[in-house]
Amino acid sequence: PVVTRFAPSPTGYLHIGGARTALFNWLYARGRGGKFLLRIEDTDRARHTPEAVQAIIDGLTWLGLDWDGEPVSQYEQAPRHVEIANQLLAEGKAYRCYLTPDEITAARDQARADGVRFESKWRDADPATAPDAPFSIRFKAPRDGETIVEDAVQGRVAFPNSAIDDLIILRSDGGPTYNLAVVVDDHDMGVTHVIRGDDHLNNAARQTQIYQALGWPLPVFAHIPLIHGSDGSKLSKRHGALGVEAYRDQGYLPEGLFNYLLRLGWAHGDEEIIPYEKAKQLFDLKGINKAPARLDLDKLNHVNAHYVAALSDEEFVRWAAPFLQRAGIDLDTDNMARLQRSAAFLKTRCATLADVVAASEFLFLTRPLAIEGKAAKPLHKEGATAILNDLNHALSEEAVWASPETLDETLQAFAAAKNVGFGVVGPPARAALTAGRPSPGLGEVLYGLGRDESRSRLADQA
Ligand code: GLU
Repeated sequence: PVVTRFAPSPTGYLHIGGARTALFNWLYARGRGGKFLLRIEDTDRARHTPEAVQAIIDGLTWLGLDWDGEPVSQYEQAPRHVEIANQLLAEGKAYRCYLTPDEITAARDQARADGVRFESKWRDADPATAPDAPFSIRFKAPRDGETIVEDAVQGRVAFPNSAIDDLIILRSDGGPTYNLAVVVDDHDMGVTHVIRGDDHLNNAARQTQIYQALGWPLPVFAHIPLIHGSDGSKLSKRHGALGVEAYRDQGYLPEGLFNYLLRLGWAHGDEEIIPYEKAKQLFDLKGINKAPARLDLDKLNHVNAHYVAALSDEEFVRWAAPFLQRAGIDLDTDNMARLQRSAAFLKTRCATLADVVAASEFLFLTRPLAIEGKAAKPLHKEGATAILNDLNHALSEEAVWASPETLDETLQAFAAAKNVGFGVVGPPARAALTAGRPSPGLGEVLYGLGRDESRSRLADQA
């Protein structure tokens, strides 16, 4: 059975790149009846706070990713890491190193000058000569040959062992180091597939050596290229290297971000819209691109717009309401009713939920509308007042308010009965109803505003 994991260091938010890594792991497991585990790599106690962990959990949850069992704290596994370090020591696969920081610096400088790998003199020293002093435990990395990482994305990557020095696996303060902890945790958690950013490819070589020394089976490694900015450079805040919550606050739907991140670095033909269920069936490691993916906010908007439009009217209202409230719109009963009646067209006009604020502005203007400049022009045309008056009358009947379509028909019939083109009726009506704000068809404008508000706005200008 497949077991994958997401192993973030709690930095305070779920970074967009981390979110994609989590998503790939989740998909790979969920599409194969496997398990997806969460491990918090919280060994850096200074950075570790409950809020930082919660931010990751919130981000994953919002994105719709669930994990099996309780999140594992790497810090809490420290005794087990120490146990394995001592086992390697007992088996002669690691050694106590008594080098002081100054001695290490000098030895490293010398190794660099000689063009060889740094090696501690304690590697082959007689333990009887050991001082009574603090020591770290170093892994005895093989001197010759090469270490091969068979990577599901990168292919076969060979690292000459002459370039991999003896890693400290237990610091002199007794704290385990990163690569040991990852190997032990992945092994203990039964992880079969390690899918993560390719900034960890070098670590994979070190980790492979540790697996081999312990006689543990290697997981499948899949190192995915990082996300770059739209200009191809390393992703920064400027490019949208934000936490998932920042995308949520900008009005992206979880489905939209999910689908976009999925397509960012993984291809399935030209198919753009791939919802969760389908993604679970289709996702595989073979489809992961080897080249870095570029963050493209236009594409994200395009995908998100699809999912906004696909919401039911009720869901749209529920997602959009907080954005309106944050913009200062009081969603009382009356305004709420306008929003609900307008959901069907509003959702087709929003790439992000935040777009609802501008798209619905006309609905929530305060009467009498302040209609200024160009927007007011149609109202000054000869006969405009009479048109608005008569139109108001034509709209008095309850039956015409059944739908945007019945209202459109009424407007057409009204113009025909008056023997004028629609160009005489539409512009003053739109000006009176929307004050020139972005608006849909007049039938939809009227329907959204409702009978009373529409007629009052017409009367205000008549
Ligand atoms: N904690 C590491 C990171 O946040 C991930 C390590 C791993 O996936 O093995 O980059």
